[in-house]
Amino acid sequence: MKVKVLRPEEITTIGVGAPRKVYFPESVGELRSLLKENLPVIGGGSNSVLSDSKTPLISTAFLKEVKFENGKLTLGAGVKLSQVLKLQQREKFSLLEFLAGIPRATVGGIVAQNAGAFGREVKEILDSVTYIEKESGELLTLKREEIEQLFGYRKTPFPEIGTVVSATFRVKPLRNVKQSIENFVKLRLSKQPPFYLKTAGSTFKNPPGNSAGRLLDAAGLKGFRVGNVFFSDIHANFTINRGKSCFSEFSELIRLARDKVKKLFNIELELEIKIF
Ligand SMILES: Cc1cc2nc3c(=O)[nH]c(=O)nc-3n(C[C@H](O)[C@H](O)[C@H](O)COP(=O)(O)OP(=O)(O)OC[C@H]3O[C@@H](n4cnc5c(N)ncnc54)[C@H](O)[C@@H]3O)c2cc1C
Repeated sequence: MKVKVLRPEEITTIGVGAPRKVYFPESVGELRSLLKENLPVIGGGSNSVLSDSKTPLISTAFLKEVKFENGKLTLGAGVKLSQVLKLQQREKFSLLEFLAGIPRATVGGIVAQNAGAFGREVKEILDSVTYIEKESGELLTLKREEIEQLFGYRKTPFPEIGTVVSATFRVKPLRNVKQSIENFVKLRLSKQPPFYLKTAGSTFKNPPGNSAGRLLDAAGLKGFRVGNVFFSDIHANFTINRGKSCFSEFSELIRLARDKVKKLFNIELELEIKIF
C-alpha cells in the first residue's frame, strides 16, 4: 500500500489547510484494515476542507470497477466523474451529465453526498450501493427501496454507516450526450464562479424553502473575506481560497457568516462542506 504526505491542494479542490498523510489501499482487504482504525475516507475532495488535524485519510482511488450488465452500470467508488462523462459520450447514455463541470468528484463522494444540480439528484438514478459496513466490516448492499427512504437533499447514511465500494446505476439511452454535457456546463458557468478558482462548491446546505446563497447575499456577505478566504461575489455560497489559506481563516469566515445569518434571519446555516 502506498502512503503519501500530500499538499492540501492535492487532496481538496479548495486547498485550505495543512499537508496530510493519505493511505492508498490497493485491495478491499487493505481498505477494511484501515477502516478498523476509524480513519476517514476521502474521494476527490471537491466538497471537503482540511482542518489542522493530523489524522491520516484513506483514498478510494483503487476502486476503479466499470461494469455494464442488463442495462445497469456498476461503478467503483474511486471512478471519477470526468471518466463517467467520457464513457457516457462513447456509449451514448444519460447518467451524470447534470454534474458536468464539477472538478475531481468521484462516484463515492457523489453517492455519499447525494449530489444534485438543476433539479436532478443522484438518488433518482441509483439502483443499489455496495459498502463496507462500519461495525462488522461486512460487504453489504443498500437496495433501491432503502435508498428511496434514506437519501434526501445532500443527505445519505454515508460515510456514517460505512464506506461505499461501488454503486449500480440505471442508465437510459441518450443520443446527443456531448450537447447535453455542454448545455449543463454553460448553465453552471452562468450561475457559479469560474472553474479555475479554488473552491469546494456550496459551503452551506439550503435551509428548507430558502437559499443559502440568497441569505448570505442579503446579509451583505458577497465578497466578504477573512485572510485569503472569501465568499464569491458571483454566488455567495461558494467559498474561494485565493492563496495559501489556513483552516483558522476558513473557520472564522464560516463562524461570522453563521452568526450574522442567525442574527438577521433567525436561521441556522448547516455546513454542506465536510471537514477532515
Ligand atoms: C466547483 C464545484 C461545484 C460543485 N457543484 C456541486 C453541485 O452542483 N451539486 C452538488 O451536489 N455538489 C457540488 N459540488 C460539491 C461536490 O463536488 C460534490 O459533493 C461531490 O459529490 C463530492 O465528491 P468527492 O468525491 O469530491 O467527495 P469528497 O469531497 O472527497 O467527500 C465528500 C463526502 O463524501 C464522503 N465520501 C467520499 N467517498 C466516500 C466513499 N467511498 N464512501 C463513503 N463516503 C465517502 C467523504 O467522507 C465526505 O464526507 C461542487 C464542488 C465544486 C468544487
